[in-house]
Amino acid sequence: MGTPLSHIRNIGIAAHIDAGKTTVTERILYYTGKTHRIGEVHAGESQMDWMDLERERGITITAAATFCAWRGHQINLIDTPGHVDFTVEVERSLRVLDGVVMVFCAVEGVESQSEAVWRQANRYMVPRLVFVNKMDRVGSGFLRVVAEMHDRLGANAVPIQYPIGEADAFVGVVDLVGMNAYVWETGAAHVGSKDSRDPATDAGLSRTAIPQQALAGAEQLRMNLLEKLAETDDLFMEEYLDGVVFPEETIRQRIREATLAGEIFPVLCGAAFRNKGIQPLLDAVVDYLPAPVDLPPAIGIRPSTGDYISRSPAAEEPFSALAFKVASDPYVGKLVYLRVYSGTVAAGTPVFNSSRDAEERILRFVRMHANKREDVGRVSVGDIVAAVGLKHATTGDTLCDAVDPIILESMMFPEPVVTIAIEPRSRGDLEELMSGLKKLTDEDPTFRTRYDRETGQTVISGMGELHLEILVERLLREHRVRARVGKPEVAYRETITQASEAQGRFSGESRGRRSYGHVVMKFEPLPQGTGFLFENRQSGADVPKEFVPAVRTGIEEAMNSGVLAGFPMVDFRASLTGGSFDERESTEMAFRIAASMAYRSGIADAGPVMLEPIMIVEIFSPEEFLGEIVADIGARGGNVAAVEDAPQGRVIAVELPLRVVFGYSNQLRSMTRGRATLTTRFSEYRRTSASVQQELVARLRTGAG
Ligand code: GDP
Ligand code: MG
Repeated sequence: MGTPLSHIRNIGIAAHIDAGKTTVTERILYYTGKTHRIGEVHAGESQMDWMDLERERGITITAAATFCAWRGHQINLIDTPGHVDFTVEVERSLRVLDGVVMVFCAVEGVESQSEAVWRQANRYMVPRLVFVNKMDRVGSGFLRVVAEMHDRLGANAVPIQYPIGEADAFVGVVDLVGMNAYVWETGAAHVGSKDSRDPATDAGLSRTAIPQQALAGAEQLRMNLLEKLAETDDLFMEEYLDGVVFPEETIRQRIREATLAGEIFPVLCGAAFRNKGIQPLLDAVVDYLPAPVDLPPAIGIRPSTGDYISRSPAAEEPFSALAFKVASDPYVGKLVYLRVYSGTVAAGTPVFNSSRDAEERILRFVRMHANKREDVGRVSVGDIVAAVGLKHATTGDTLCDAVDPIILESMMFPEPVVTIAIEPRSRGDLEELMSGLKKLTDEDPTFRTRYDRETGQTVISGMGELHLEILVERLLREHRVRARVGKPEVAYRETITQASEAQGRFSGESRGRRSYGHVVMKFEPLPQGTGFLFENRQSGADVPKEFVPAVRTGIEEAMNSGVLAGFPMVDFRASLTGGSFDERESTEMAFRIAASMAYRSGIADAGPVMLEPIMIVEIFSPEEFLGEIVADIGARGGNVAAVEDAPQGRVIAVELPLRVVFGYSNQLRSMTRGRATLTTRFSEYRRTSASVQQELVARLRTGAG
């Protein structure tokens, strides 16, 4: 019943926004018989972009997983978004997928975002195919895009197809391995009919001899292909030089091996919107991208010893899987997407969450097709499925066999550095707001929320302005929250630089009852990234054990806002060293308040400072603008960390505070007439200078008042 492991392909489709990822995915679903009708992105009826918001904006926000079949193979497919704010979606896809189809636009070529994704994929060493889309557009240039891949990406891009005709006259492609042509009908009358139930595999396609017009070009590129393959293998090289005529199968085998090794990137072309080029792309996915068995064993640690261990991609190994996405589903509740790395497990059996040291039960497994689902009874190595019933699991957790546990290498998520304040319109909206926020933070590890008691505001933080804008819209629409929303701000933090001691004493009346609590606290700075630690260093004679949790809670609530400008306090230890209580009057509430009073005065005495996110900005620019850009960066107070030669220009790496990065890309564009592009990523939190701190505190105080 199950598909053999060699016949599974776990692939992602990635590209710059608008290059045509969603359109390509739609066509793949159509030709594999998964859907019987093609939804157009521009008509707002794409199957993958199923959230209302995505339909309206015509862009892809969440990675939707689906699967389909081609030539007896099962292809698990993830459509990933292109915008840098959703980089976490790309990151987690790359972590669990085995191969990627990169889509480039034949007119725009290699754009900045595809460059960023390409480098991410390099980091994970993911084998890739390239599909040069939109060959039907005026100004398309297949060979130009191939040249750009060499220049800008340093990628050994090797065409395995040659286009027949261009722009309006683009009719098909030559397969450089078989040296025959694929020609598609124009007009594409076969798609879009609602009652079509025929298998669509060959719809509109005929295989013919190579037309005269494409012959010379195809022969030249075939030579290039064989030469490139010869460079990757000595034996092949010898035979090539000896003039051996290679059978098709040998060439395909060599392309496969070189692609899996990352030595070449096969390049195909087509026009997804015109239904041209999809079937050979599917063939190439099956022929050249890896099956789970082609991968090295998954690495992890044994929880009991901390030793490195590994799991081979085999059904006989103990079960292990990585949770890479959590979504909330209106019908079944929490859905946890899993990639199975070894072994097999049936629905209904207990599994072990080794990351949380907890027993869990998976009630059902479902395969997702956009927002529809299909039940599966048992999952096995190589599968990508969603699990229902997991209580504890979050993104990055390992689920495994309790008898032989492993914690798989997780993934790195960048820090959320931009914030927006959000307030319910009325008290009645508060609950909706809280439950909506809870669901969204469960889904997205780069989205966080915190409640600021002082201002009564809820502050949400994320990766960038667009990221938050989309989350706010989903909150307002999907979760029907009525709320007022502020402007995007930098997510500053506060910390302390020296130790201090302070007391807090609450003695008063609440609900007609006397209430008493008194604490002595010590505050100490901790290394960056440590977060918050709490310690009880008194015997219980001063503050009885049952009130200690209330003291901790009091600090935790208070540290949501620092004493300088109300930003969260991080990287410090609060120790309870003494205090007093009253047999009859002491209450938890009194100790909570006493703790927050001690926090206020203690932190103010501990040399508080502000921290701000520092970004690494990589600017790609033609040589001629280099001087001007470097001078401008200096004026903004940035340090140029490195300038490197890049094909057709230079790459300048700069560290800049996020507050300076806001709006910088527009500035850069106008300074270089759009020739320079930039990507940013979070580096670390760093102390602001005293003058910047002063300025910020003053501005934020007046802003808040
Ligand atoms: P994504 O942002 O990468 O998912 O791109 P979409 O699939 O949403 O496509 C962006 C736009 O390009 C849409 O308007 C598509 O209809 C259009 N498009 C996609 N493929 C082609 C193509 O092959 N030719 C032309 N001319 N337009 C295309
Ligand atoms: Mg899309």
